[in-house]
Amino acid sequence: MQNRFKGKSCYYCGEPAISDEHIPPKQIFDGFDCDKIVVPSCMYHNVGKSFYDACILMGMLKSLDEFIISGLANDLTPNILKSIELVQDKFPHVKKGMRIIEIFQEGQPGSEKKMKSAFVDADIDHYKWARLLTAGLIWDATEEYQEELDWNEESGVLDNYFRESTEKGLTATDLIESDREKQKHMTAYGAATWIEGWSAISKPYPRDLYNFRFVYGSLGHLHFEHTFFLKYKIWVHVKASPELAEKVKIKALVRSLKEDGCRKV
Ligand SMILES: [Zn+2]
Repeated sequence: MQNRFKGKSCYYCGEPAISDEHIPPKQIFDGFDCDKIVVPSCMYHNVGKSFYDACILMGMLKSLDEFIISGLANDLTPNILKSIELVQDKFPHVKKGMRIIEIFQEGQPGSEKKMKSAFVDADIDHYKWARLLTAGLIWDATEEYQEELDWNEESGVLDNYFRESTEKGLTATDLIESDREKQKHMTAYGAATWIEGWSAISKPYPRDLYNFRFVYGSLGHLHFEHTFFLKYKIWVHVKASPELAEKVKIKALVRSLKEDGCRKV
């Protein structure tokens, strides 16, 4: 454990920390020479998380891979293509936590176009996963466990990727319907003045692999928007005091000045 974490509390539950945890998961940056944000963690909120990390990230990368196979992804950056390439050999060996499902494009009988996408199993709680990620970033901003934050089911989470797995497969109509529903919520978020999040020091991680931004809303909620591979987004909000929101804002400001400094050196 890093020295600066001696005697600290877990970033999520406040129990005594016994290890370090990477926020966001270090697998996102496999193959890249960059620093990562690290926070103190209890055993449960470190080890318990790594299986989720693997399933969720593999699910995203496999979905992008299927987009490429279907000719629907022409806009991926070199970093994202590299990430897909690095895990490609592992896709056939993923037996738990993720499955590949066919999506049908409806048309005349017999003329359906098929493409595949990867889905994370319903028992992988990606909402909890996104709360852990958000709590880690808040720890990084304040360097202490925030007792005031209540990470319960209400700390609303919404996403544009994860859908319930189904054995039958999904039709294009199912997907459009579900996206339309989510779009309503996203419009409300879109009007906000977001503050760009920070990266690691002194070698910032590639922001096209992971990036976040946040805003403090009038109802006293801190909203976080996490973006993976420029495509998949998860939103988390949690009730927070104005003082805490201010600390997070200051962190973002100071960090962006430091990152500018790193780039100039
Ligand atoms: Zn913990």
